[in-house]
Amino acid sequence: MMVLQDRDRRLLSLAKDLDRLPQDEARAKAKLAADEAAVKKCHDALTDCGLRLKRLELDAGTRRTTIQRLKTQQFETRKNEEYQALGHEITRYEKEVDVLETKELELMEEMDGHRAAQKAAEAALAKSRTMVDEELAGIRTRRERLEVERTEVSVERGRLAKEVSSEVLPLYERLMKTKAGLAIAPLHDGKCGGCHMKLIASTVVAVQNGKELTRCEDCGRILYAGE
Ligand SMILES: [Zn+2]
Repeated sequence: MMVLQDRDRRLLSLAKDLDRLPQDEARAKAKLAADEAAVKKCHDALTDCGLRLKRLELDAGTRRTTIQRLKTQQFETRKNEEYQALGHEITRYEKEVDVLETKELELMEEMDGHRAAQKAAEAALAKSRTMVDEELAGIRTRRERLEVERTEVSVERGRLAKEVSSEVLPLYERLMKTKAGLAIAPLHDGKCGGCHMKLIASTVVAVQNGKELTRCEDCGRILYAGE
């Protein structure tokens, strides 16, 4: 029955290990998702800058066309007053173009920054993709190994359970469930190895004789003579 308990405890621990694997997988995948999001953020920022740049270029373009038109008008006019007025207009538009061009340059600089960040984020993503792939492969291998072991131990457990008398087995199984996977506890220094309560003398003697099934009077676990 001790061996049975050992196998049952192994099965419990295997089940616990198997239960943890989906969480490990989720954690690995979450890391990847975060890195993917970082790359996307840079990409989106670049797209946004690109649109803004196009708008600035368009704005500057219309102004340049206007300047050309005004210059033609200025060239064709004979009136000095109109020539002056057109000159002022042209200066005003040229200043606006200057402002727009400055903004374009600033935006291009900003885009360089985003490009560098994107490159770094992509490198980080590639690195963690390799890492996560390895991790997931490791988890798969672990799952297969644990499942193989679980099947083997289950078969052995079934064989061992048949060797336990049908009167004791239900009690053992009930205790396994209610006593945190420890149905059989060693007698140790006059105490129950399960709940650590001091046992009464007659119980200790009964356990040491080992002739009948003896249980801890406190927690109800089946006792055996420890060292
Ligand atoms: Zn006890």
